[in-house]
Amino acid sequence: MIPQNDIIMHSSKQTSTWQQQLADVVTSAEQLAQELELPAAYLQAAQQASQDFAIRVPRAFLERITKGDVNDPLLRQIWPLAQENSPPPAGFVLDPLGEISSNKTPGIIHKYHGRVLLITNGSCAVHCRYCFRRHFPYGDNALSSQQWLEALDYIKQRPEINEVILSGGDPLTNNDKRLFGLIKAIGEIPHITRLRIHTRLPIVIPARITDELVDNLTQSRLKIVVVVHSNHANEIDSEVAACLKKLYRAGIHVLNQAVLLKDINDDLTSQVNLSEALFDCHVLPYYLHLLDPVVGAHHFEVKQSDAQNLMLALQGHLPGFLVPKLVREVDGRPSKTTIDTPITPISSL
Ligand code: SF4
Repeated sequence: MIPQNDIIMHSSKQTSTWQQQLADVVTSAEQLAQELELPAAYLQAAQQASQDFAIRVPRAFLERITKGDVNDPLLRQIWPLAQENSPPPAGFVLDPLGEISSNKTPGIIHKYHGRVLLITNGSCAVHCRYCFRRHFPYGDNALSSQQWLEALDYIKQRPEINEVILSGGDPLTNNDKRLFGLIKAIGEIPHITRLRIHTRLPIVIPARITDELVDNLTQSRLKIVVVVHSNHANEIDSEVAACLKKLYRAGIHVLNQAVLLKDINDDLTSQVNLSEALFDCHVLPYYLHLLDPVVGAHHFEVKQSDAQNLMLALQGHLPGFLVPKLVREVDGRPSKTTIDTPITPISSL
């Protein structure tokens, strides 16, 4: 394994519940700057950029950031920069994946064969500055009880669908009553065999993985797959590791998807260490996404040729099962697009 910075060990909020941690997120640039001892010169741009997409950082995540280090890979994911407000380059749009046109029934995004995505809410524990849904009209998808029934009816009427993906926002920010009710209702649809949960909560507030949640998931007749979202090994501290292992020991498949982010994880050491740290917790690296071209996030973009060269190097350092698939999501295609690894490095003329 390539040497990495020591993973910081935390006692983070072991005494507070996940609900308390979710309510106690940091939402102001001033507070973040003060707690992380950031230079005052960074503050004004962050205040401005956060007007379009608010700051949101759980303390358990904040505690893993090195104070005073403006290049910390976790800080760079949550700290708004002036570039967010600069004119977007060609191709950067508000809805890069065409989700609004695929959102035909409130709460449902149906793009791919055999599976639908259910927008369970519009809230996340953390706001990732590169998020492709940073402009998504969540307000139009806040469902009334009647609309929930209609969303479930949409699935019931389509026997070709066998998998439901819970998304958001983050589906694990729903309270247990609502979440368990939804899982039960989906389990009662005979043609659904798999439930996938896309969530960043196990990484940013690991206390969310309670015994009650694990019990509920394992009691469902559905095959459960939890897809977490971690971009850097420094995100995986002892608490996160414990929660990921808990899911694994309960027999739940856990995969990771990451986004390739400039100056955060676009180097060989970061990628090797992430895959190794994930596998130490029994999590398989699944996808490495090229950035979705959303307005406000162009400064995170890594050129496709650089990403392909990185994958070539990664394959030389890790066994195949620890190398994630490099993918891009292209509006209108019937699946994610896999980006091939070159045989030799691509010249970046
Ligand atoms: S957790 Fe996921 S949906 Fe929420 S802001 Fe981050 S990337 Fe976007």
